[in-house]
Amino acid sequence: MSLVMHVDAAAWRAHQDRVASSTEGIVPVAKGNGYGFGLPRLAAEASRLGVDTLAVGTAEEVAAVRSGSAGGLASAGGAGLPGFEGDVVVLTPWRPGDEVAEPLLEEPHVITTLSRVEDVAAVAAAHPGARVILEALTSMARYGLRADEFPEAVEAAQGLEIVGWTIHLPMIGEHLGEATDLATAALAAHRAPLWVSHLRPTDLDRFRRTFDVPVRPRIGTELWLGADGALHYQASVQEVHDVTADQRVGYWQRRAGRRHHRLAVVSGGTANGVAMQAPTAAATVRQVIQTLANGAMEAGRMALSPYSAGGRKLFFAEPPHMQASLLWVPPTVQVGDELEVTMRATTATPDQIILD
Ligand SMILES: *Cc1c(COP(=O)(O)O)cnc(C)c1O
Repeated sequence: MSLVMHVDAAAWRAHQDRVASSTEGIVPVAKGNGYGFGLPRLAAEASRLGVDTLAVGTAEEVAAVRSGSAGGLASAGGAGLPGFEGDVVVLTPWRPGDEVAEPLLEEPHVITTLSRVEDVAAVAAAHPGARVILEALTSMARYGLRADEFPEAVEAAQGLEIVGWTIHLPMIGEHLGEATDLATAALAAHRAPLWVSHLRPTDLDRFRRTFDVPVRPRIGTELWLGADGALHYQASVQEVHDVTADQRVGYWQRRAGRRHHRLAVVSGGTANGVAMQAPTAAATVRQVIQTLANGAMEAGRMALSPYSAGGRKLFFAEPPHMQASLLWVPPTVQVGDELEVTMRATTATPDQIILD
C-alpha cells in the first residue's frame, strides 16, 4: 500500500461549486503539484465547473491540463481524465529563449503573460495576433510593468490581442488602493479586463464597482483546498519490529534506546512530500513557538512525524527516505493499520488519490 489522499468528492465539489458560483469571472489556478490533486484532476474539475479559462503556473503545465494523461499520477486517475478545452493563461511571464513558451504564442487558446516592454515588442514582432496579458508591478515586487510604462507597453503591443491587465497582490495588508491606482492607470492606457489575485472579497466587490470592465479573480487555494475536512491522508503500516534498547536500526543505525520498543515501517517518504515543510510566514506567536519546539526536538534527534496513531503524533526513528518512513509506535500498532498523516497539500505528492 501507499500514501493515499482520500477526498470526500461530494463535499469537495460542493465547496468548489459554492466558490465558483459566488465569484463572477473566476479563473481557477492549477499549478505545481496541482494543490495535491495533480494538474489533470484539476483540469477535469475546471471543465466540470464550466469555466472558460484556467490559469497554470508555467508554459510546461499547459500540456498537463490539456491532455488528461500528461503530468499527473496514472494511479490518481490522470489517464483518461478530460483535458481542459478552454483558454489557458500562463501566469509566469514570458521570457525570450523559452523553447516551451515560444510555440504557445501561436496557439489560439493560450494566453501569455508579458511583464516587460522589451518582451511585448519581441512578441509583437515574432507572433502577431498572439493573445497576451500585461502584468502590472505591485508591492509584491515580483514581475511587472511600472505604471509609467503602461502607455509604452500598449504601443509596443500593436498587432497583439491584449486580453487584459494583471494585478497580483500580497496576501496580507490593505491593497485596494494600490489595485485601484494600477487599474486606473492601466485602463487609461488601454481598456481591457482586469485580472486580479488575492483581493479580499469585500475589496473585490468595491473594485468591481469602480471599473466597468470585466474583472477576473484568479483563485487556487480557496477553491481547491477550502473544503474543511474533505481531504485526509492515510498511510499503512507495512512492517513492525519489537526492538531492544541496544538494537541499532535504519539507514543511520541509531540505537533504539530505552524509551522505544516498537519500530514500524510505514508508507510515505520524501518522494511523497512527507516531512517537507514549506517555510511558513510564522504569523502567530504559537507558530513561532511550535517551530522552535520542533527544531529543538530535531536537534535532540527526536523529530515529531506527521503520522499519528490513536490521535497522537508519532516520532520518526530516523529521517524519512524516498517512499518509506521509520517510526516509533505504541505496542498496539499492527501491520496493516492505517495511520493518519498530516500533509501540506501544496507539497504533497500522494501515490494514490481516492475520491470517495
Ligand atoms: C498561484 C497564483 C494564484 C493563486 O493563488 P492562491 O493563493 O493559491 O489562490 C493567483 N494568481 C497568481 C498570479 C498566482 O501565481
